[in-house]
Amino acid sequence: MRSDKLLPGICDFHVHVGEKIGGYELRDDFAALGELARRQGIAAIGAFVTEEPGISLTGKLRRMQADARQHFEGFVHWHLTPVKATVEEVYPLLEEGWDLKFYTTYRQSGIYKSYKEIGRWMEELAGLKPRILVHCEDDAVIAQTSAAHPFKTAWDHTLRRPELAEAIAVERVLDLAVRHNHPVHIVHVSTPGAALLIAEARQHNPLITCETAPHYLLYDEDKLKEPDGHRWLCTPPLRSKESRGLLVELLQDGVFDIIASDHCPFKPADKDRYKDTPAKVPMGLPGLASLFPSIFENLVERGLIGLETLVELSCRRPAELMACNNPARYRLEELLGRTDHE
Ligand SMILES: [Zn+2]
Repeated sequence: MRSDKLLPGICDFHVHVGEKIGGYELRDDFAALGELARRQGIAAIGAFVTEEPGISLTGKLRRMQADARQHFEGFVHWHLTPVKATVEEVYPLLEEGWDLKFYTTYRQSGIYKSYKEIGRWMEELAGLKPRILVHCEDDAVIAQTSAAHPFKTAWDHTLRRPELAEAIAVERVLDLAVRHNHPVHIVHVSTPGAALLIAEARQHNPLITCETAPHYLLYDEDKLKEPDGHRWLCTPPLRSKESRGLLVELLQDGVFDIIASDHCPFKPADKDRYKDTPAKVPMGLPGLASLFPSIFENLVERGLIGLETLVELSCRRPAELMACNNPARYRLEELLGRTDHE
């Protein structure tokens, strides 16, 4: 029996596709993604649109939407990162039901937002309350730890971007979410400490959600010590064995709303080019194709979580997150795929 007759479609909430990141063109455009999605039974993705010089955020969104319509049969839910655009400029797009995505780090690439700015967006959007996704790593902590640990080997990434940076940023952003009663989604949670803060804050604001990614559940920082360690460079970095184990326990406890891949595939040649200069290696891992199978093989088949839990985390709940902002556009059944009704 084919698995697509048994399972609803996979919905991956966190996918980078058709963009340039850190100066590198991603391996996957929407044509490649369409192909991959057909093979893997991906019914919907959440994709990112980052404002860039020379084109408005609206212009870039429309271009990417046209591209997606042409190549991808599933649904795309959009996460928008304004860089220069004001609340007024972005407002009509948010009315269409899309999310915002902010970063508390990456000052050099110009996408950094201070906690104060994030709070101001929440204030100004109090009437509409669009979901805000936040990449949480405290930039001040990272400035300090990066200065203390020169980037000589792939492993140094773990020292330059420590767990503490995530915990501090998550705490600050949760504080804003509670204060403004705003829907906030913390992306790629990589540390048990941050996950516990989220579980606690959710008691004060049920609109707080979060995701973790397969690589934080299945791999640890030892990968960065291997000869091809640079291939495992992603941000936040892979964490210790202990943290990885605790994350799996927290997953079992139901702390994570969803598992999303943070699919960020660079061409192998781009990843390898500066093998010995890790600071120049583009940060990110592919993961869309393996999102469901990797968790199935490593956690479900080993009895760590049930199949129903995996379906909830990678199909039903992410579909719900995409659909809840778009009552007119999507029906949950459409996002989950029709194969389960056949
Ligand atoms: Zn990402």
